Amino acid sequence: MTSLVGKTALVTGSTSGIGLAMAKALAAEGANIMLNGFGDPAEIESIRAGLAGTHNITVAYDGADMSRADDIARLVETTEATLGPVDILINNAGIQHTDRIEEFPPEKWDAIIAINLSSAFHTMRLVVDGMQQRGWGRIINTASVHGLVASVEKAAYVAAKHGIIGLTKVVGLENAGSGVTCNAICPGWVRTPLIEKQIAALAEKNDLSIEEGAKLLLGAKQPSGQFVMPEHLGATVLYLCSSAADQMTGTSLTIDGGWTAP
Ligand code: NAD
Repeated sequence: MTSLVGKTALVTGSTSGIGLAMAKALAAEGANIMLNGFGDPAEIESIRAGLAGTHNITVAYDGADMSRADDIARLVETTEATLGPVDILINNAGIQHTDRIEEFPPEKWDAIIAINLSSAFHTMRLVVDGMQQRGWGRIINTASVHGLVASVEKAAYVAAKHGIIGLTKVVGLENAGSGVTCNAICPGWVRTPLIEKQIAALAEKNDLSIEEGAKLLLGAKQPSGQFVMPEHLGATVLYLCSSAADQMTGTSLTIDGGWTAP
């Protein structure tokens, strides 16, 4: 195992859902954490202080808007000034919007491409050089099964997630052999705020309760009939940070209850 004690992890979109579970997993292994994302300031402060106190580490928070290149540059600068050079970068911030392409609002397209794809370019270009010089680094991009297969009404999301898998391959290749790896994670349905709107819409359309809507959503795509848990993805991140994954780069790990198997 590579010890994560004293390493600096920047996790974008870590005030909720998958990113928060990843931050918790890294914190439990002793990494210092820069949290990022939106939300209620008191709740975020309680997460920050809770992680710092429980694990005796430094945890900072920066509310940079990942749709903005200037905010991202400031986020990386602040992280390095507060916690030291970034050793582990998790590009996880993401949003969703569903509509058929003829109704898809262009501003939603731009926002999804900016947050779910371009933000990873802006963070990676700023940290990769330092990782190379130090001879160790882990970059993990939260893609999705939608980086591998499509679904209707998700033009921007599917384009962004396919894009991030391509970007992951390039950064993996450019850094191969340097001690810096870059991989993508492709979860199926994970029950987080991101999909609650989709569950509610499905329930309403079919005159079902929310829980029946959730079952219908799972049944349509995820053969296991069970949600992936954010904690599964936290554990995947720890695996990718371990020496067992030293030679794993430029690839995607699918954690999807069988969604992409057929
Ligand atoms: P979530 O809504 O719980 O979390 C999203 C996080 O991103 C939050 O912390 C939010 O504040 C942050 N965020 C959103 N816009 C931002 C911005 N402009 N700047 C900074 N932070 C911003 O959703 P989640 O399900 O945990 O999603 C996390 C990632 O996982 C996303 O990239 C998503 O596409 C991906 N994903 C989710 C699922 C799923 O089923 N939930 C499946 C596959 C992939």
